[in-house]
Amino acid sequence: MKFEPDNNGYYGQFGGAFIPELLYPNVKELEDNYLQIINSKEFQTAYKDLLKNYVGRPSPLYLAKRLSAKYGATIYLKREDLNHTGAHKINNTIGQILIAKQLNKTKIIAETGAGQHGVATATVCALMNLECIVFMGETDIKRQAPNVARMKMLGAKVIPAVSGSKTLKDATNEAIRYWIQHPDTYYLIGSVVGPHPYPDMVARLQAVISEEMKVQLKEQTGKENPDTIIACVGGGSNAAGAFYHYLNDKDVELIAVEAAGLGVHSGESAATSQLGEVGVIHGSKTILMQDEYGQIIEPYSISAGLDYPGVGPLHAYLHETKRAKFMNATDKEALAAAYELTRMEGIIPALESAHALAVLPKLSLQKEQVVVVNLSGRGDKDLETYTKHLSY
Ligand SMILES: *Cc1c(COP(=O)(O)O)cnc(C)c1O
Repeated sequence: MKFEPDNNGYYGQFGGAFIPELLYPNVKELEDNYLQIINSKEFQTAYKDLLKNYVGRPSPLYLAKRLSAKYGATIYLKREDLNHTGAHKINNTIGQILIAKQLNKTKIIAETGAGQHGVATATVCALMNLECIVFMGETDIKRQAPNVARMKMLGAKVIPAVSGSKTLKDATNEAIRYWIQHPDTYYLIGSVVGPHPYPDMVARLQAVISEEMKVQLKEQTGKENPDTIIACVGGGSNAAGAFYHYLNDKDVELIAVEAAGLGVHSGESAATSQLGEVGVIHGSKTILMQDEYGQIIEPYSISAGLDYPGVGPLHAYLHETKRAKFMNATDKEALAAAYELTRMEGIIPALESAHALAVLPKLSLQKEQVVVVNLSGRGDKDLETYTKHLSY
């Protein structure tokens, strides 16, 4: 098995670039240049410097002793929640803003659902003094007021998408429409989704997570490889980053956790690998939740970051080839896991990350087993939800 895309951007049958012809020059320009830029010394120096001094990397690998004792394994948390802006998303936006600058782009567009990627994009645009336009569904703008305020404070223009369900997919349509009309802009995508080369590019920019894990595990356990890595999957970028340098190490079990909402088969879920079928979404062929007419089914999860009707093509491939095990957690299970981590380790996780923690009780763990849970983000943004559901 090969976990890098082929020359046309395919992982097995998944991936590719399904885009309107008018976007072809933009995407081609990026495709022709991204690898060379990422591998250049100039990029690596600037990227590593910002990750260290601006983001605060390396993020700690923390041995969660009480959690380990409870589940009878050796459980480490990769602390992406401690990054500047509170999640892994900044690793990607820092990398892409440097690529955009190399390509001499002066205007950045992005789309956002919960607003987390919008904030991470507005942050790096402020840092680099670039114009930033964020498309966001009108419904999401109302639901995610604090993130809208952050984006505006950072100087971004937030444009409401008023068609369809006024959520993420409508914001994406608006962003693509704008991109077609303004081909001089750089489209900064927030996960391992979109037309080739985005999924591969974003995976490489998040791969710093597993690069650090190898060094930190070696220091703390004497071995680079854990037995198991667990990460939640919305589009799949934090999981891609946590898995990346272990994809070819067959002895490492990879577990991807999707949001089951009110239950996988409740009609209110985002467990794409369980419910999805092959189709095209956001410019790539992957698995997605769709009805018999190919219309996208609105996903649901208590966690806004996992509320996505597809998964990136790498994850579709990891699922098909069984290289990763796909599990899921309901809203309730995620909430319980979030309270548990808070009370046992003093860490309030993002609701997304809580889904990864929620599968710990479902695994039959061994005492010697080294497990790394990728804690993708912090829970401050979810306090209102946590407070509403706090039952003790
Ligand atoms: C956005 C987000 C996710 C989901 O996105 P992926 O691309 O699947 O990583 C997960 N956790 C947090 C904290 C997020 O903000």
